[in-house]
Amino acid sequence: MTNNHYDVIIIGTGAGGGTLAYHLAPSGKRILIVERGDYVPREKANWDPQVVNVDGHYNAKESWLDKDGKELHPHTNYYVGGNTKFYGAALFRLRKEDFGELRHHGGVSPAWPISYDDLEPYYAHAENLYQVHGNRGEDPTEPPSNSPYPWPAVSHEPRIQQLSDDFARSGLRPFHVPVGVMLDEKNPQKSRCIRCNTCDGFACLVGAKADAQVVCIDEAVKHSNVTLLTNSLVKRLETNSSGREVKGVVVERNRGLETYSAEVVVVSCGAINSAALLLRSASDKHPRGLANSSDIVGRHYMGHTNSVLMAISKCPNPTTFQKTLGVNDFYFRSDDFQYPMGHISFVGKLDPVTLRAGAPAIAPNFTLELMAKHSLDFWLTSEDLPDPNNRVTIGREGKIVLTYTPNNLEAHERLQAKLKQAMKQTNCAIHGHECHQGLFGRNLYVGQKIPLAGVAHQNGTIRFGHDPKTSVLDANCRAHDVDNLYVVDGSFFPSSAAVNPALTIMANALRVGDHLMKRLGVSAKEYEQNRQQERDLAVSR
Ligand SMILES: Cc1cc2nc3c(=O)[nH]c(=O)nc-3n(C[C@H](O)[C@H](O)[C@H](O)COP(=O)(O)OP(=O)(O)OC[C@H]3O[C@@H](n4cnc5c(N)ncnc54)[C@H](O)[C@@H]3O)c2cc1C
Ligand code: SF4
Repeated sequence: MTNNHYDVIIIGTGAGGGTLAYHLAPSGKRILIVERGDYVPREKANWDPQVVNVDGHYNAKESWLDKDGKELHPHTNYYVGGNTKFYGAALFRLRKEDFGELRHHGGVSPAWPISYDDLEPYYAHAENLYQVHGNRGEDPTEPPSNSPYPWPAVSHEPRIQQLSDDFARSGLRPFHVPVGVMLDEKNPQKSRCIRCNTCDGFACLVGAKADAQVVCIDEAVKHSNVTLLTNSLVKRLETNSSGREVKGVVVERNRGLETYSAEVVVVSCGAINSAALLLRSASDKHPRGLANSSDIVGRHYMGHTNSVLMAISKCPNPTTFQKTLGVNDFYFRSDDFQYPMGHISFVGKLDPVTLRAGAPAIAPNFTLELMAKHSLDFWLTSEDLPDPNNRVTIGREGKIVLTYTPNNLEAHERLQAKLKQAMKQTNCAIHGHECHQGLFGRNLYVGQKIPLAGVAHQNGTIRFGHDPKTSVLDANCRAHDVDNLYVVDGSFFPSSAAVNPALTIMANALRVGDHLMKRLGVSAKEYEQNRQQERDLAVSR
């Protein structure tokens, strides 16, 4: 056994990999974490809309191809903490019904191999870990839970509170969005989060967003049994002669190739890169790609149908932190449409600089300023359905090819219509119905109308299930074809539901972590002792 041999190798440090690393760290097992990116540098530019939204400074510097062979620049981020460094930290549980089969206008959303009840304790754990602020009992579609949120909801600022009251008067049931920011409103001087307007889409300069680096990786690497390699790109996975075990993790770092091995290898590169890694790891024993006897790897790509709708109101909207209000009244159905439509909430407050990036050149600056001053910037999410032809493949020069034809679009159009109708009916206390003069859509992905590049909610490409013919992973997220290979990022989703995915990825990583600890024979007593020892050390440091 060489020094390059570990008990566990985890590839990727985002919502899945980062959370798993945190959970396994006190096990005492030798753990290697391999991350292609570096830490996000802490610099003023972290909070600069021009640098972040217009220049795309922190976006991945690579191009993929669409189904017609055209280049696309994915809106994704390769850093320690993965995409959670830039996420809006809206941390939702899927609805209980999302785990069963659901009939949509555009087809069927399939059942998961585990139930909501199986994941419930892990949701609670993930909410504690990621310091979710929310109020139970407000969201009419909320699944049952055994504990309150660890922190009270982030309060609405006056304009959003006014909208919430207006919505409630018109019969909707708006709620506070659960968010993972370290805000202590009762103690603002001591609060790590300063409640700023550059949260959703930006890295937090003061480390107050509950992302996978701050919450998980920084804690995991305090354990002497955990090693993190940054700027280390996993190129391929190699198996033993039977093909049943991953024997080598080939890593490009320091301009050379290094090979590592482990008893258990966990892939967590994000749904698109994980599929690409397995496909690139094809061999004699796995000619269609590693763990791909089913030919399912890379298929069923989903990313939600998302849109940003700006409602320009007569009332100005001076809100700083806008992502506090959600509406799920149309999540499952309405009186006039018997199918699920989706979820309505907010993006971070749009500013004139960001708007300029998506506006036609003729739009004068003062118009954009005025728009930004008055807009309510809604975020709408509808479920897209798993289509085997929507898939990740490897194309020319080894590039990722993302083939995607949108589906279930009627649901999204209905959702947009519902919001427009709700805004029309909403009686603002100051201007009455007239307050919300206009509502129009804008592509969030700066500059051009290329929704395919907006892969923020990517999932589904390495689905889990009971049947090895129709899924890649079993219910524990272990590959059916390879005994020591697991996947814990968003790839495992058999359906995408219509709320943001990160909390489910985190909760599942904790669940798989428990399974791995059993597999590796970690004793609960030893685990608790190691955790306590780390806590004591932290106090003395
Ligand atoms: C702007 C933005 C806002 C978002 N807002 C929300 C939100 O409010 N709520 C929510 O739930 N979700 C949100 N999301 C989505 C959320 O961030 C993702 O669902 C989540 O991070 C996915 O976790 P993951 O583990 O699947 O992958 P990631 O977090 O993407 O992690 C994958 C990691 O693997 C690394 N990696 C990739 N390939 C390799 C390789 N070959 N070798 C080594 N390392 C590799 C990457 O660098 C990355 O660190 C948002 C995303 C974005 C971009
Ligand atoms: S709102 Fe809070 S968590 Fe978000 S970027 Fe600002 S300080 Fe950080």
